[in-house]
Amino acid sequence: MTDLLIRGGTVVDATGSRRADVLVRGRVVVAVGADLDGTGHDAAGLRMLDAGGCVVAPGLVDLHAHLRQPGREEAETIETGARAAALGGYTAIVAMPNTEPAIDCASVVREVLELGRSSVCDVRVAGAITKGRRGEELAAMAEMAELGVRLFTDDGAGVQDGRLMRRALEYASALGVTLAQHCEDACLAAGGHMHEGEWSSRLGVPGVPAEAEELMVMRDIVLARLTAPLGSRMHFLHLSTAGSIAAVRAAKASGLAVTAEAAPHHFTLTDASVAGYDSVFKVNPPLRSPADVAAVKAGLADGTLDAIATDHAPHAPEEKERPFDHAPPGMLGLETALALSLGELDLPLAQVLALLSWQPARIAGLEGVHGGPVAEGRPANLCVIDPSVVWVVDPDALASRSRNTPYAGRKLTGRTRHTVLRGEPVVVDGEAQR
Ligand SMILES: [Zn+2]
Repeated sequence: MTDLLIRGGTVVDATGSRRADVLVRGRVVVAVGADLDGTGHDAAGLRMLDAGGCVVAPGLVDLHAHLRQPGREEAETIETGARAAALGGYTAIVAMPNTEPAIDCASVVREVLELGRSSVCDVRVAGAITKGRRGEELAAMAEMAELGVRLFTDDGAGVQDGRLMRRALEYASALGVTLAQHCEDACLAAGGHMHEGEWSSRLGVPGVPAEAEELMVMRDIVLARLTAPLGSRMHFLHLSTAGSIAAVRAAKASGLAVTAEAAPHHFTLTDASVAGYDSVFKVNPPLRSPADVAAVKAGLADGTLDAIATDHAPHAPEEKERPFDHAPPGMLGLETALALSLGELDLPLAQVLALLSWQPARIAGLEGVHGGPVAEGRPANLCVIDPSVVWVVDPDALASRSRNTPYAGRKLTGRTRHTVLRGEPVVVDGEAQR
């Protein structure tokens, strides 16, 4: 067996930061320490990965990736999505269930897990809360939980019926799983294509008010409190407004154990981007006002938001290039999230990694496998990040099958140099190995 030595980097994980080499044998980290090279290896028995000037961290974990398979393979497949993830520094991603068919029963869960098995990322699955994501009756959550599904969501839509959501929370509590809500009041949001505000009126595009998100966040906080004695666990997906974040902050302060995430586009772009009617800037929830962007950043800084999740949403060009009010919402995220987080948040590197790695790992129920710490005996799921390399986003150079990044041509700082999955280097010097 060839050992792997990650040499010359600074290890950063939940326990702190230190200069150290990392030695991997099989799927496991076997040593972390200074100057590990030459420990009884001949040249053939040791593979080196240069981490000079780099941070060696637990692999990133994305709670929110749309991989489009089954049903929309022209936009993405599990293989291409996983490759994009590995290049982005991710060792685990949670595939959202709004596929065709929806991931709402054991057979589709099995299909996706099987497709993910040979990919370069650990592909986990979120199951639907309701059958077909129609919001009418509960899906077969127990049989999906039995296959290891830990997150359930109808993402793409929120569960509108409060009584059904209460029952889902009760049911999820009994199963020990987490419900993740796409917070959007469908009636209030109906017909909107961008954030409702100064820009929507100026551009004459029908808007979605911030309140469409906030109403459901507030309702679900109330339902989470109602079901808290049962041990219910509620996670809020892609929060985008100041009011949502304030509501979650107050709920946490009152002792309620809810968690929440935000997506990089909600702390790097505003609704002003829509000025050219380019549908690459169409996303749901929509790009918001500068005040909302500031609130998302503040929520990430003070711990109101537990995770940065990509909401990676590939769309084939013929779909995404339709006129603004006909194009589907969604943006690519897996290959740019790390650099945007490092570059735009003005937070210490360890805090950015907490938001991208070990905190989402915990929410996904993966803390035994992903998210570190980088220590002897732990699974070797790692990424090596060059925090100072400057690169320009070229849509044609992305591994994703789609091209709908809103960051085309943008200069970013920080990039994955290597990714190690189960002890195997799947990205070396920024190149995917499979
Ligand atoms: Zn969503």
